[in-house]
Amino acid sequence: MADQKAHFPEYVANIGIEVHVQLTTKSKIFCSCANIPGQEANQNICHICTGQPGSLPVLNKKVVDCAIMAGLATNCSINKHNSFARKHYFYPDLPKNYQITQSDEPICSNGYIPIKLEDGSIKKIRLIRIHMEEDAGKSIHTGITNESLIDFNRTGTPLLEVVSHPDISNSYEAREYLKALHAIVTYLGISTGNMEEGAFRADTNISVRKKDCPTLGTKIELKNINSFKYIADAIDYEFDRQISVLVSGGHLTLETRLWDSKEKKSYVMRSKEEAADYRYFLDPDLPLLDIDDAWISSIKRQLPELPQEKFNRLIKEKGISQYEASILIEDRELANFFEEATKYSSSKQIINWILRDLLGYIKEQKTSLLQCKVTPIKLAAIVDMLEKGTINGPAAKELFLMVAQEGGQPAELVKAKGLEQVDSLDELEKIIKDILAQNPQEVERYKAGTEKLFGFFVGQAMAKTKGKGNPKLINELLKKHLA
Ligand code: ZN
Ligand code: MN
Repeated sequence: MADQKAHFPEYVANIGIEVHVQLTTKSKIFCSCANIPGQEANQNICHICTGQPGSLPVLNKKVVDCAIMAGLATNCSINKHNSFARKHYFYPDLPKNYQITQSDEPICSNGYIPIKLEDGSIKKIRLIRIHMEEDAGKSIHTGITNESLIDFNRTGTPLLEVVSHPDISNSYEAREYLKALHAIVTYLGISTGNMEEGAFRADTNISVRKKDCPTLGTKIELKNINSFKYIADAIDYEFDRQISVLVSGGHLTLETRLWDSKEKKSYVMRSKEEAADYRYFLDPDLPLLDIDDAWISSIKRQLPELPQEKFNRLIKEKGISQYEASILIEDRELANFFEEATKYSSSKQIINWILRDLLGYIKEQKTSLLQCKVTPIKLAAIVDMLEKGTINGPAAKELFLMVAQEGGQPAELVKAKGLEQVDSLDELEKIIKDILAQNPQEVERYKAGTEKLFGFFVGQAMAKTKGKGNPKLINELLKKHLA
């Protein structure tokens, strides 16, 4: 981002993002087929979701509940008059040759999601709309036999499409916006948010213009990039590419591009369809949908604590920093882990162990919070034993890794593996006297001013206690005997 400004200070970007959120309702949007991903191909299908002649869709009320929730959580107005439209296009995995979606009367409109900028200020990214629609199936192209297979399991999976205004100015803001929206839908419990499985898919529109130009530039769409980092990379690349085209006298055309995350380049996929190409019209198979105040209020009462509320509360109740809270709330499970651990231990070190050791372990082992065997109560036990001096720092780290990998009870492991801290004054004093007696030259050099040798003596003492010596006592004793 800093680079962009350095290269082309007179240009700005306008970025709008459309996110498709897959909902986790029990059944599909217009039929009673199970809405479960990852099963055997074409198992959860029926005459409705495969578009057989004469079949009629029936709207799943739970999908409307989810949409109202999402709208309320993103400051939208909930529209009382709703209709469904057909959006026509041909694709082999779209058996009806149209997708049922909402066009002129979407369920939510005019919301916003606040994001935090790098300087700490808050910017509201406005939402144009959130609408309900059905997902298409999946084409699977087998490279080996040169065949194309179709799996209709996903057809009719309920989606919310969340469309932002082009209020986003750079890759940093895009990432913050996506993180905020992702946290909202996962906190609401309406989506898994799993990007790899396609449950949270973002299409990014980016255009550039000279700062003083009042109209938006030509918009380029970046389709289905499945990581926030890649989206940010693609935005940075497109910003530079589009300006380079313009400054060299070329002009940009409305198109959809694909991002190659390995080569870090975007490629033209197709020229973009205009809305008129889709021949939208009201779906005659579905009745108009009226939503009354009672329905909206009943959903309002069911709203769980949202990320921003949790952020404020954790800072206030647990005394953690804004930075720490912002990392925690990105992942509801992580925030819950922290809250749960603080029920068992009041140590201020809990947050450090979560952000440094727990997240570090998960990242390094490419595992997940759920698979890691450290539970909140076990982490609290480890941290408390460290604070009480039952174990020292290195032993606590060793114990943490043991529990993470093998499971087991921290207190029992400390006994079984002999991890207790050696803090008998007599024992440590004897060890230190021995070390000094065995290293007369080092003692002499230390006393002559080579102060870094202090670390050597500490190392020797730790080695003699197999890493279990109380570091504070060792330091004190060494200072006393070397004086
Ligand atoms: Zn079905
Ligand atoms: Mn859509």
